[in-house]
Amino acid sequence: MGVPIRQQLTVGTYLLKQKIKGVKKYPLVLMLEPLFRCNLACAGCGKIDYSNEILDKRLSYEECMQAVDECNAPMVSIPGGEPLIHKEMPRIVEGIIARKKYVYLCTNALLLKKRIDDYKPSPYLTFSVHLDGLRERHDASVCQEGVFDRAVEAIKLALGKGFRVTVNCTLFQGEKDHEVAEFLDYVTELGVEGVTIAPGFSYERAPRQDVFIKGRDVKELFRGIFRIGKEKKRKWKLNHSALYLDYLAGNQRYNCTPWGNPTRNVFGWQKPCYLLADEGYTSSFKELIETTPWEKYGTVNNPKCANCMAHCGYEATAVEDMLQNPLKGILTAIKGPKTSGEMVPEPAPVYAEVKPQATFSGIPIRVE
Ligand code: SF4
Ligand code: SF4
Repeated sequence: MGVPIRQQLTVGTYLLKQKIKGVKKYPLVLMLEPLFRCNLACAGCGKIDYSNEILDKRLSYEECMQAVDECNAPMVSIPGGEPLIHKEMPRIVEGIIARKKYVYLCTNALLLKKRIDDYKPSPYLTFSVHLDGLRERHDASVCQEGVFDRAVEAIKLALGKGFRVTVNCTLFQGEKDHEVAEFLDYVTELGVEGVTIAPGFSYERAPRQDVFIKGRDVKELFRGIFRIGKEKKRKWKLNHSALYLDYLAGNQRYNCTPWGNPTRNVFGWQKPCYLLADEGYTSSFKELIETTPWEKYGTVNNPKCANCMAHCGYEATAVEDMLQNPLKGILTAIKGPKTSGEMVPEPAPVYAEVKPQATFSGIPIRVE
């Protein structure tokens, strides 16, 4: 784990309080999306395909603080779009820090050098820099040459100025385990605090659909990466719970708990998570929790969720599993994810259940 002890204690205390109060659906990380506008156009992005009118919208400082207060999660992640484009971002970050929440400012780093002095180093602030691989891989992923070099330069600058820095890596089709392992070696050497790593979600709105990696391929890829890590005794710091990593390697059968990472963006509170557009919005966090038909979502319940293994759906599930089964969690953390043997079977999707239906002629037909 790359997360400092102080933050782990805050989050642990928060979890304990939720348990004592008997709260069943509690948020762990608020996904605050104050704008969708970005200065890149990545092939796998599900956020930039809106009209200019939407891309020009911003959540104000006041709206952001209201969201943080309503939700009251101990951590706030600010993805986008590109948050550094937002003129009020330094004030928004300060406001979140003043509330003693841990904020992850997710950036492609193109503007970081120019804007870095608008921010002060703090144990509550982390720049989470988007890097999908080494130079060739990352530049291909973001569809622009030179971005990797600028991001690395910005990472070094931020580390030099005493900021907490993590790397946010999304894996796509065609990844090789040894290349991802090399990338993890590289960013570890750079000195970042940790790496968030997950398979890309097949956004319906993404410019290209052929870039996403799915199903068993995801689990085989993660097993390969973890196997290399074990064989070469690497000390990669992955910013995930041990059980989420074990889930990515095909060893846990989890249901999605998207209320763990609720999303507030320019449309309102997004049902059920930041990955699925078009499922509706609510005007308050309370309404989101109380009116979202949560049982309709998750890999077995909804074809739109079919290939999702994203941390916004399954990290909170893994954390809850850790609380229920601490021994399993501790042993997995010590031994690392299982990288050989049978994987847990894929659950059969409920939405594809075969139901015989009568026709007008009285002869049943099968509908999938
Ligand atoms: S940097 Fe992020 S928000 Fe911008 S286009 Fe790429 S994936 Fe989308
Ligand atoms: S499985 Fe969960 S996190 Fe993934 S898209 Fe569906 S609701 Fe969102």
